[in-house]
Amino acid sequence: MSVSTKRFAIGVLLLTLTLGGCGLYQKYGYGRVVESKLDPAEQTPVVLPANAPTISQRFRPEKEPSKSDHRGFDILVPTGTPVLAASDGVVSRVELSILYGKQVMIDHGLDAADLRLQTRYFHLTERLVQEGQPVRRGQLLGYSGMTGLAGGFPHLHFEVHRLDETEPAVAVKVLDPQLFWVDGVGRITCYDKARSFPASPTALTYPVPCLGLDWQ
Ligand SMILES: [Zn+2]
Repeated sequence: MSVSTKRFAIGVLLLTLTLGGCGLYQKYGYGRVVESKLDPAEQTPVVLPANAPTISQRFRPEKEPSKSDHRGFDILVPTGTPVLAASDGVVSRVELSILYGKQVMIDHGLDAADLRLQTRYFHLTERLVQEGQPVRRGQLLGYSGMTGLAGGFPHLHFEVHRLDETEPAVAVKVLDPQLFWVDGVGRITCYDKARSFPASPTALTYPVPCLGLDWQ
């Protein structure tokens, strides 16, 4: 490849990245789940309220030989968006990793299946809680961002883990967060300070604020 061809190729690459980034920014919005590549038959149907920030990438279960699994879902929100605890619990870990950047993990009580749930919040720009600290549903955990390998655009990657303590070694399963909303499977539930939520079994509310609802 000649030097000028190389320069041209790099220019095209940079332009593509820039436009791609802008494209993602234009998608910031509310009430829309961006289509995933998963077979519709395998997806949990999702109802996203019109005032809830968009989901840009859904959960994809681990499947061999495909390595395109996605262990949670991504909410497309600008850096600095408040990240809220999805239910009552205790902060079990505050960590920094190359892949997921600044992250917070919360241990909750038992879910409807009597197993312990854990939620994880990744790529944060700032964390406001410490390990061992009890938190309430809707409490501010920190702010979203793009630390770690966030793919070049700010978003919140959110995961749900289910811990089975009846096994000799605690078994951990990563599950589709869509299964655990307060309002039912696939029915994304916005946090609203004015609403009362049952303390148990553990069920989740959306980990970012929805438009027009008071979370503070
Ligand atoms: Zn993700």
